[in-house]
Amino acid sequence: MITVKVARCGYCGACVSVCPVGAVELAETRLIINEACFDCGLCLAACPVGALQAEDYTEAEVIPLRRGYDVVVVGAGPGGSVLAREAAKLGLSVLLLEKRQEIGSPVRCAEGIAHEMLVPFIEPDPHWISAEVSKAQIAVIGDGTTVARQAEGTQGYILERRIFDRVLAEEAAQAGAQVMVKTAATGLLLEDGVVRGVVARGPDGTMEIECAVVIGADGVESQVGPWAGLDTVLPLRDAMSCAQYLLAGIEIDPACCYYYIGRQVAPGGYAWVFPKGEGKANVGLGVQADLAANSALNYLNRFIESQSHLARGSPVTLVVGGVPVGPVLPCLVASGLMLVGDAARQVDPLTGGGIANAMMAGRLAAEVAAQAIAAGDTSAEALAQYEQRWMAGRGHKMARNYRLKERFSPEQRSSPDFLRAFMVAVGGI
Ligand SMILES: Cc1cc2nc3c(=O)[nH]c(=O)nc-3n(C[C@H](O)[C@H](O)[C@H](O)COP(=O)(O)OP(=O)(O)OC[C@H]3O[C@@H](n4cnc5c(N)ncnc54)[C@H](O)[C@@H]3O)c2cc1C
Ligand code: SF4
Ligand code: SF4
Repeated sequence: MITVKVARCGYCGACVSVCPVGAVELAETRLIINEACFDCGLCLAACPVGALQAEDYTEAEVIPLRRGYDVVVVGAGPGGSVLAREAAKLGLSVLLLEKRQEIGSPVRCAEGIAHEMLVPFIEPDPHWISAEVSKAQIAVIGDGTTVARQAEGTQGYILERRIFDRVLAEEAAQAGAQVMVKTAATGLLLEDGVVRGVVARGPDGTMEIECAVVIGADGVESQVGPWAGLDTVLPLRDAMSCAQYLLAGIEIDPACCYYYIGRQVAPGGYAWVFPKGEGKANVGLGVQADLAANSALNYLNRFIESQSHLARGSPVTLVVGGVPVGPVLPCLVASGLMLVGDAARQVDPLTGGGIANAMMAGRLAAEVAAQAIAAGDTSAEALAQYEQRWMAGRGHKMARNYRLKERFSPEQRSSPDFLRAFMVAVGGI
């Protein structure tokens, strides 16, 4: 019987095309070989990465790579890539690990960011900008749909994150960081409770990589923090469950971001329509996981059906994801380790926006790592500088936004006072 090495499979479908009995099925990112397989071996020859193995196959022994870096960054999202770029610019040797084979894909984002939050990190470039926006509108959905607030003049962008994320990683490489794709961190190297590196699995096997500081920038699904003993588990009430379509064939103002609030439409959260160029928009919503009676996708389908201008569109992409909207974590560091971005739950609890926060935290963590490494002290106490500086700046605002959100029960989140606070929080987009 043929088996699949999932860490190596690139989901290209070449094996499917040569199988004479239809025994291989490619289910998006899962390859299934069924009982019709009669071990002819044709698919083995077709596979460009050696991901298929016959029963008698013996893999050449992989010599574990044991290399030292100043910093290993786990995760090439905006947080990890900005960190890797800034750390490399500060003269550190940096390895950036990404488990996906294509950085930035699949997208898990509505892709909105304010101009003033973006420009400190990268000059806006039409290659990765789908739409420029200058207006925001909030509507409350109850018995009908009522426009509650509108704002004009704020500048923002709807990105094309599939490209944006990759460009940030390219900039990290340009600055001197080594980038590895299709390579997942699977654990930490620990010595007496101190983090000394990571264990990673790539297409060619497992590696042990030593470093002075590990950065967990591994997103909402982060495991790096828990591996070091940090508690990052989200209570359901602080988890926003999201679904979004890229809808094509609709008519909306291509310069306006629309927000819809209402207990029925998205309990504890909101729906959004972010333009993605003429006739297209990211149309999605997030529901507070402990309040939702149905899946986010179910709410989304109902929302679109209820809005005739959206209902005539066609979904060309489906995005699903989770957003951490809880309070700031009490601890973002351990000895030899820091957490950044969604992994550190640094998302704005009012809006769910986290791209800019991740980049800010990435830059801050790079500075603190460089200082700590130069001083030869990467203990939790030395790295706590990062936590303190975060809390003195952006983190302080996030803590305030969490308190603000908590002041309003989900039922009160269409009240004028909440809408005012929400508009201020999203106003820049
Ligand atoms: C539906 C939805 C809509 C959103 N809309 C917006 C919005 O409009 N504006 C906004 O600002 N924010 C938005 N967000 C939030 C935003 O996407 C995140 O806050 C942002 O991507 C966080 O960046 P990050 O670098 O921390 O993590 P991510 O972008 O999640 O990157 C983490 C990376 O780590 C990799 N990784 C994970 N585990 C490992 C491992 N073990 N080894 C190697 N690599 C690993 C992942 O593959 C991923 O590439 C939205 C989120 C969702 C789900
Ligand atoms: S070994 Fe032959 S029958 Fe089995 S999956 Fe491969 S091509 Fe198909
Ligand atoms: S040919 Fe190889 S890489 Fe392509 S889908 Fe089949 S097993 Fe995966």
